[in-house]
Amino acid sequence: MQCPKCESNFEQLHTPFGDVERCQHCQGLWFDMLEHQDLKDIAEGVDTGNPEVGKEYNQIGDINCPVCPSSKMLKMVDIKQPHIWFESCPTCYGRFYDAGEFTDVSEYNLADFIKKFSAVERP
Ligand SMILES: [Zn+2]
Ligand SMILES: [Zn+2]
Repeated sequence: MQCPKCESNFEQLHTPFGDVERCQHCQGLWFDMLEHQDLKDIAEGVDTGNPEVGKEYNQIGDINCPVCPSSKMLKMVDIKQPHIWFESCPTCYGRFYDAGEFTDVSEYNLADFIKKFSAVERP
């Protein structure tokens, strides 16, 4: 599989929570449908790329899906964190996050969870 942004090869990372593809050059992450949900807990372990490089590649939005090449990926915005843009395939529902973005997304969710939890604890 080839990276839709820089055309380098992905390497497959095997984790106890599932597999993820990471680009060997731009370090962007590819998730098959719903895989990103299981991997949020270990986001920092798989999202090891330089966020500055990720920001540069974030400018590239006009890409085709690496799994279904005739499918154009849609640029999506994270509802809770509107500064995070990722690409999603309308056919296979795979997602591409630039380096640093997945950690960013996951950190917010953790903070959000703790906030909800402490709200419950309050009398
Ligand atoms: Zn790449
Ligand atoms: Zn696809």
